[in-house]
Amino acid sequence: MASDAERVKRLGLNRQWYRGETIEISSIIEQLRKHARNYGWTEYSAPIGVDLSLPFFTRIQPGNLNRRRLYLSAGIHGDEPAGPLAVLTLLRENQWPSDADLWLCPCLNPTGFPLNSRANAQGIDLNRDYLDRRSTEVQAHLRWLETQPEFERTICLHEDWQADGFYCYELNPSGFPSLADKIIHAVSHVCPIEQASVIDGRESEAPGIIRPIVDPATRLQWPEAFFLLNHKTQMSYTLEAPSDYPLTTRVAALVEGAKAALKATAN
Ligand SMILES: [Zn+2]
Repeated sequence: MASDAERVKRLGLNRQWYRGETIEISSIIEQLRKHARNYGWTEYSAPIGVDLSLPFFTRIQPGNLNRRRLYLSAGIHGDEPAGPLAVLTLLRENQWPSDADLWLCPCLNPTGFPLNSRANAQGIDLNRDYLDRRSTEVQAHLRWLETQPEFERTICLHEDWQADGFYCYELNPSGFPSLADKIIHAVSHVCPIEQASVIDGRESEAPGIIRPIVDPATRLQWPEAFFLLNHKTQMSYTLEAPSDYPLTTRVAALVEGAKAALKATAN
């Protein structure tokens, strides 16, 4: 068990790319499926090739249209293991908001993880493919998504190999009450927050909070969050754990951040 000081200290492994612990994704997906089954989730397996599929889980209370609809995805970059592990933790804990229906995509890039690669096995960065749709993964994801309703809020779990701390992107063009402060506050108990004023080339508004002004129409390579914002939601959060810290710290950061983002109110 890491001490408190070790938990919040950089490992110093990452140079040029992520060089930390990796996960055996097929075993993680099996565990995800097992917990989802045990807790009554509905699974849909979207085929992306021979013997390979994307697992999607839903938990929807039939006949109640007043419930909030929340979407959570992870594992679109194969060098970001904390995302699928965070979803696994959330599924295992089974403490979801009681007033919400839920949509989970815990691993969107199963061929990237065995290679510890951001891209899929064909070298495509799936999180830049939501306009072109060249990859079978994004095609399968969108075929399924297009049959689903709109969401009150979407949350995408990521890691950043260069970051000094946790941060999040908020896309909220309609100006709904922001949840970013709550997300940062919740994560600050388990993981350092990025303090840089420029994060990933963008100015932060407050420690760990980036609110990019984006017009998806002007961007040629869409991340998942752009598709969601254009077609499925008016409020999107992308959570970024710093992947040079211990894996347990990053998983805790994404778990606490996701819980805060899934909660009902902005107050
Ligand atoms: Zn990522």
